[in-house]
Amino acid sequence: MLLELAIADAYGAGFEYADEMIVANDLSRYVQHPRHRLIPGSYTDDTQMSIAIAEVIVAQAPWTPEVLAESFVKAFKRDPREGYAGSFYHFLVNIRDGVEFLAKIRPDSDKSGAAMRAAPIGIYSTPEQVIEAATIQAAITHNTPDGINAAVAAALMSHYFIYRLGPKRKLGQFLESYVSGEWSKPWPGKVKSKGWMSVRAAITAVMRNDSMSALLQDCIAFTGDVDTVAAIALAAGSCSHEISQDIPSHLFTALENGTYGKDYIIELDKQLMSLVSKK
Ligand SMILES: [Mg+2]
Repeated sequence: MLLELAIADAYGAGFEYADEMIVANDLSRYVQHPRHRLIPGSYTDDTQMSIAIAEVIVAQAPWTPEVLAESFVKAFKRDPREGYAGSFYHFLVNIRDGVEFLAKIRPDSDKSGAAMRAAPIGIYSTPEQVIEAATIQAAITHNTPDGINAAVAAALMSHYFIYRLGPKRKLGQFLESYVSGEWSKPWPGKVKSKGWMSVRAAITAVMRNDSMSALLQDCIAFTGDVDTVAAIALAAGSCSHEISQDIPSHLFTALENGTYGKDYIIELDKQLMSLVSKK
């Protein structure tokens, strides 16, 4: 799950709000974003924050704002990178630790930050546990109904596939039975910054594609905040037995592999997925 999330995020990063790049959306390579400095094959905030969440799950640490905030700060400080929204990037640069994070954050965002890191939470064994854990982590930065609902829906997406709770075509209906939002209504066109928009687009793409490669291209084709759409969609899609796992091998090969890159992610992914409960 984390590996596919990272590839989707890194691939999408070259296309984020860069409509002119869309002609290059053929999965042949990670593209250079026309305005960002990010090196092709590097992942962004979506992956780094998902890693931070996954590490708390794997450590089986108490699921508290203190522990989660500390993990967000630690993941950034040990491996700082751009690709975060500018204001949040500067916030992370200027705080020391999780205590200061919680003291100084203004948790009133309804953007996609809490949803883009929520997929690993889907490994918890019941929808109720997933909802509670997703809500607690979302409220740290996105304590708004829309911000929390988007995060809960994103976490329940991966949960639905991990635990085989139904067919892919019923994903939207399943989400609507647990969290407020028009999750089964197809998302059309450009994806802007609100969290529910990215999640709606990701659900739309997952429901209408049967392979990871087609899914990734379809997420990018929305245009707009597409690294987040792709990260949410491919994290969930990686857990669906109705989606063929055919991400081109050169995208695995070219994914960054520094200290917290591909090999680290593969190992963390293994530990995370080993916690899926065998019911
Ligand atoms: Mg991003």
